Amino acid sequence: MNAAEILKKYFGYDSFRDGQKNIIDAVLSGRDALAIMPTGAGKSVCYQVPALLFSGVTLVISPLISLMQDQVKALNEAGVHAAYINSSLTEMQISKALILAEKGVYKIIYVAPERLESAGFMKFARKGMISMVTVDEAHCISQWGQDFRPSYLKIVDFIEALPQKPVVSAFTATATREVKNDIECILKLKDPNIVITGFDRKNLYYSVEHVSGKQKDYFVADYISGHANESGIVYCATRKNVDTLYEKLFKQGVSVSKYHAGIDNEIRKKNQDDFIYDRAQVMIATNAFGMGIDKSNVRYVIHYNMPQSMENYYQEAGRAGRDGGDSKCILLFSAQDVMINKFLLEKKEFEGTDFADIELVKERDLHRLRAMEGYCKSTWCLRNYILGYFGEKTSAPCDNCGNCHREFAEDDMTDDAKWVINCIAETRGRFGQNIVIGTLLGANRARLKEAGTVSYRSYGALAHRSEKEIRLLMDKMLEEGYLLRTDGEYSVLKMGDITRLKEETARVLVRRSAEKETPSGSRKTNKRSTDALASAGFKLFEKLRQLRLAIAKEEAMPPYIIFSDKTLIDMCEKLPENKQQMLAVSGVGENKFNKYGQKFLEEIADFRDRYPHAVISVKTESAEE
Ligand code: ADP
Ligand code: ZN
Repeated sequence: MNAAEILKKYFGYDSFRDGQKNIIDAVLSGRDALAIMPTGAGKSVCYQVPALLFSGVTLVISPLISLMQDQVKALNEAGVHAAYINSSLTEMQISKALILAEKGVYKIIYVAPERLESAGFMKFARKGMISMVTVDEAHCISQWGQDFRPSYLKIVDFIEALPQKPVVSAFTATATREVKNDIECILKLKDPNIVITGFDRKNLYYSVEHVSGKQKDYFVADYISGHANESGIVYCATRKNVDTLYEKLFKQGVSVSKYHAGIDNEIRKKNQDDFIYDRAQVMIATNAFGMGIDKSNVRYVIHYNMPQSMENYYQEAGRAGRDGGDSKCILLFSAQDVMINKFLLEKKEFEGTDFADIELVKERDLHRLRAMEGYCKSTWCLRNYILGYFGEKTSAPCDNCGNCHREFAEDDMTDDAKWVINCIAETRGRFGQNIVIGTLLGANRARLKEAGTVSYRSYGALAHRSEKEIRLLMDKMLEEGYLLRTDGEYSVLKMGDITRLKEETARVLVRRSAEKETPSGSRKTNKRSTDALASAGFKLFEKLRQLRLAIAKEEAMPPYIIFSDKTLIDMCEKLPENKQQMLAVSGVGENKFNKYGQKFLEEIADFRDRYPHAVISVKTESAEE
């Protein structure tokens, strides 16, 4: 069998995604590889497919026990013999697993990095059966990242102690240049084939809603009820927020669970499982929730508060839509969020770091917070903002985000922008935003007289504008880099790089929301992943979901491991009538067909009998409301 046949037989997919084939071909030819791909891009397939083609065992080093268990379950479901070895097993169980491994029972073994140093494991490794060593979450090897794990540094010693050099492949979703270099050097990758697919998650729809106070609660409640039966996460900044929101929704009869570090271990675990096994529809949590969660059918992630950095936001929002199905990432922004976050940053504790370092870290934190604030205030394509932040070049607006779909009134404020620059020049970068705005407005304030700005040429130059307009203009100028804002306690405005502004054709366009948004967001935000299905199709989807839930209960398995949402939707569109047609559904491999195919075929046949004239999938027809 070749790689494509393996993909079809075990995983049920017809073709490889961007980057997958490239990595697979490299490792199969014996070359090391490094893949940097965003969450949900399909990194697992890149080592699981070759693992089935190698004669020996593929060892996957992974830092998170829960992820390993999930992956092994999913592989066994797909008919691949796999096992994990970590501290959740007893010594007895470990010896047993190693004996089976020596007999060649497993094609893939997941291990925690600490395990590599144990004598029992080394004994197995020395037998020379290891064809490939895969390092998952490879950024853990770098001290530059947030997730540094010292045990990852031992991996290379382990590899060098093997009787034959295996192929080494490394995978991560996060990699700045430093992290990428660390991975290459520390793992001593030999002439690796490097594939970087970029940060864009096309199936995610980003939007920012400006709502504050109680409105946020209404928004969340509204959104949840408009998306019944969809799994979602609501992230809050503080434990208190989590508790309050949870109480409110619980009282309204919403199927919710909650998670934060203040909840007792056992209950926390149970709450998490409720969500993973679809017993609870919505998870309300702090950012303590999510590491090691592989739930693929999360259809939306709402941020009740603005996170502290774009890095955090990208990661947390990115927990939506891992199965590739359309999903929403909505951020509820209010000015108060900036205050809350500043307060949280102030309170952050530093251990054993010296003063200068602390100052540096604080400065960086504030800088990250500013970029996050910029995202919330941006009136331009949100996807491009994210990609730009991570250093990717972008061109046209995406036409698939809240801002691209919102109506804006556009105001050419180029001349006003020049006055702002003049004013900043006159202040010589000594004053904060309020003084600059007051000066431009020509306000009559004692503070301005004291500062001496009333004698500026720019004093009153923008008197015809409102304060709000000038603020919007400044936000835009900050975003463009024409202005800089220092991050200290007394932040002041300074001149940025204005070369572009000096060009004849330069324009500073400021956008303002044209329409008043309803609290539940624009109609487009309310689109569901199942909207491609007409109403009959939606009914069938619900039936198949129920069937999946029943099977999952029986098998004590998370539902999304049985079939992903995307696979169920594809069933609704293809309406398979027999084995062959069922195998053509994306995500239905041979093993899964043998286990569950018949049941799903019956459910679909039953549905057809009952609604013989049902139009299932008409993309142009509007979805049921
Ligand atoms: P990552 O590890 O990069 O976050 P996963 O390996 O978990 O991503 O894959 C994300 C989802 O995409 C899974 O549901 C997986 O089965 C699916 N997937 C992977 N490769 C393909 C493919 N070639 N075609 C369709 N779906 C795929
Ligand atoms: Zn866009």
